[in-house]
Amino acid sequence: MKALTWHGRGDIRCDTVPDPTIQHGRDAIIKVTACAICGSDLHLMGGFVPTMQSGDVMGHETMGEVVEVGKDNKKLKVGDRVVVPFTICCGECRQCKWGNWSCCERTNPNGAMQAEQYGYPLAALFGFSHITGGIPGGQAEYLRVPYADVGPLKIPEGLSDEQVLFLSDIFPTAYMAAEHCEIKPTDTIAIWGCGPVGVLAVKSCFLLGAKRVISIDTVPERLALARQAGAETIDFAEGKVQETLMEMTQGQGPDAVIEAVGLESHGADTLIQKVASSVMSHTVSLERPFALNQAILACRPGGIVSMPGVFAGQVGPVALGAFMQKGLTWKTGQTHMIRYMQPLLERIQKGEIDPSFIISHRTTKLEDGPELYNTFRDKKDHCTKVVMRPHG
Ligand code: NAD
Ligand code: ZN
Ligand code: ZN
Repeated sequence: MKALTWHGRGDIRCDTVPDPTIQHGRDAIIKVTACAICGSDLHLMGGFVPTMQSGDVMGHETMGEVVEVGKDNKKLKVGDRVVVPFTICCGECRQCKWGNWSCCERTNPNGAMQAEQYGYPLAALFGFSHITGGIPGGQAEYLRVPYADVGPLKIPEGLSDEQVLFLSDIFPTAYMAAEHCEIKPTDTIAIWGCGPVGVLAVKSCFLLGAKRVISIDTVPERLALARQAGAETIDFAEGKVQETLMEMTQGQGPDAVIEAVGLESHGADTLIQKVASSVMSHTVSLERPFALNQAILACRPGGIVSMPGVFAGQVGPVALGAFMQKGLTWKTGQTHMIRYMQPLLERIQKGEIDPSFIISHRTTKLEDGPELYNTFRDKKDHCTKVVMRPHG
């Protein structure tokens, strides 16, 4: 089959790879009808996430039709139409029972490697490096779904792929980020990043009753999408984010802030970051916390910092002093997908939201994938989200 594969920093290709097969009784194989490129894929493409190997199949935002089911899988049958969450969960360990789905203790076959870095094994993720399991991803014609009797969500008739595809990751991610803000009707929330996650976070904050949302980015069409979602906006390139936020809120500041940018945020290196980068550049690229630091600074004392943005390893200097002194609360994590998929499907069914408004680029050829990765990364051609239909 055809699949998009990683071959080193900046090098994504469309290769022919072996078709996936059932390896365990709980597995299912799906024929991929739609898949998308995520900001997290850009971090992998950029070489920021360790333990990628040449030839790894990319992709973790995927849906499709079940074409084969393992003998122990009582939940799915051939022909079911499903959205596959990007986290793989066993449904049985203590973390799954607590609802901390992205912290599943059992599904990562390389859990010991992950425990060396993070202290514990965490849920395996599709298409996301070997430290998270080395599980082939869903930017492909077919996908093997391990533990497929837990994660996949069956989609009822009457909804298009584009309406429900983002239940695989970014809509639950944006919603969890908003939920982490513990929004009250008087609250103003500031969001760094108007990528797909940031824009859906604007919508989610309003679904949860926020009074005002202020979004920060510099790409005009992305700022425009945030405004379309109901936010007021600030262009960070004008250099006065903190001052502008204070003016807009009459000196009160946002009650909670969302960092929806992640480890490649743009900003000027501080002296400490420059020194740290020059010392470390021979071994790893230091991750960049510029947006995070602005968000920490902007949050009013006693407020909440919600961080869906991904960090993976060694990060440049973080404003922990401001964080501690102001008594902030930090909430983050890979998304606990299964908590949110069904309730958010119901919101889509009721017409409260249609997340497809962020899609700018579509293709029916996986061969277009490598070029579309560049377009999405470089924000060319007003690209805000790419959806691919590998079977046309
Ligand atoms: P994206 O790369 O499309 O968007 C990031 C946006 O941030 C861009 O529009 C960019 O212009 C903007 N930006 C860069 N520097 C900035 C700064 N200093 N201030 C304000 N904006 C800045 O990515 P996305 O798909 O929207 O994803 C956003 C983040 O969420 C990524 O880190 C991604 O890995 C992460 N993510 C996390 C989860 C999770 O489970 N926690 C799931 C999906 C995505
Ligand atoms: Zn993602
Ligand atoms: Zn589990």
